[in-house]
Amino acid sequence: MKKVFILGSTGSIGVNSLKVIENLNDEFKVIGLTVNSNVDLLVEQIKKYNPEIVAIRDKSSAEKIKDLVPNDVKLFTGEKGLIEAAVSCDYDIFIGAMVGFAGLAPTIEAIKRGKRIALANKETLVVAGEFVTNLCRENQAEILPVDSEHSAIYQCLVGENLSEVEKLILTASGGPFLNKEKSFFDIATIDEALNHPNWKMGNKITIDSATLMNKGLEVIEAKWLFGLPKEKIDVVIHPQSIIHSLVQFVDGSVKAQLGLPDMKLPIQYALTFPNRTQNYFTRTDLTEIGTLTFTKPDYSKFECLKLAYDALECGGTAPCVLNAANEIAVDKFLKKEIKFSHIPGIIYSALNKFVSNGLSDLESIFEYDKKTREYVRTLN
Ligand code: NDP
Ligand code: MG
Repeated sequence: MKKVFILGSTGSIGVNSLKVIENLNDEFKVIGLTVNSNVDLLVEQIKKYNPEIVAIRDKSSAEKIKDLVPNDVKLFTGEKGLIEAAVSCDYDIFIGAMVGFAGLAPTIEAIKRGKRIALANKETLVVAGEFVTNLCRENQAEILPVDSEHSAIYQCLVGENLSEVEKLILTASGGPFLNKEKSFFDIATIDEALNHPNWKMGNKITIDSATLMNKGLEVIEAKWLFGLPKEKIDVVIHPQSIIHSLVQFVDGSVKAQLGLPDMKLPIQYALTFPNRTQNYFTRTDLTEIGTLTFTKPDYSKFECLKLAYDALECGGTAPCVLNAANEIAVDKFLKKEIKFSHIPGIIYSALNKFVSNGLSDLESIFEYDKKTREYVRTLN
């Protein structure tokens, strides 16, 4: 039986991970669960999955439920509590299902312990790709991507030689504003931006999907997962989200992975790899889907995608600045402090202000993340 620790168990990926584990019956056991503040759902999860350890980042939320946590379950609180939980129990697989830069530090602890990391938290690789991949090598930890595009590429690469890859092709749905004029971004509401046509996800990634920053972050994520330069990573708009990504090889052959837009499949693959396990998930019926279409992304309309390629080109701390500026800008949009159309300008301004120091050590990453956040909070 494999023991599983879930960082961010109450989110969209966390909840789907628990459904997958439930379906895998006796093969996997939940050992640790962490949340920010959704203690009601955490209490339900504790009852159902009986973990050894839980961590709640928000201390006042933890205070509310501490009497509801059974005595035999260890409870940690605060930011440090996430790290203490990740190092205090024994597990085989760490699911990184927390959102944002805040997921980096606990994930590093799991990597240091040489665990399998089923990684949904793309920000970890975006901000610290070089550091994290080196740390994995040193500690024999393996990253299995949960992000559906990267899972698709991972599946296409089984049995292949990376040196024979000509390019990776990441598919993007295009989000809710694919067919809107750029001028619409000035009046786009939060509800409209959160209304993703194909996927049901947490708010932050859903806004990233509307700006196409999500795809930009995924280009950077792909660079570190597969060790390929940005010139070999393309993006194609595919509104149906059935082809999750493709790999083109040096002989011109293209492999793709298809499936319905449902994160349970990539999560399960990351847990069971190199095996595949029978499940009850809905099957893809191509005759029902009928048409699959593809177009080039409009980089002048979706400026965030272009900014991500630029940050990747700069290297060093630039992707960290891109990410921090984006996290704060998205948060500001969700709080109605800025318009949707302001997001790329804010990120551009941060990238210009904090030019990369060319380094990718952890100290630089935390420093640039912090100062970018402070700066972007002052913008509107
Ligand atoms: P959600 O917002 O739905 O969930 C986030 C989870 O992290 C929740 O459990 C939340 O706890 C917890 N959390 C958030 N902030 C903190 C914090 N500061 N400290 C501790 N815990 C925190 O996000 P998603 O599940 O949508 O996404 C998770 C990650 O996976 C993101 O990096 C996203 O980009 C990536 N991803 C998601 C996909 C999806 O389909 N959702 C697809 C591909 C990648 P609480 O509930 O208490 O707030
Ligand atoms: Mg994705």
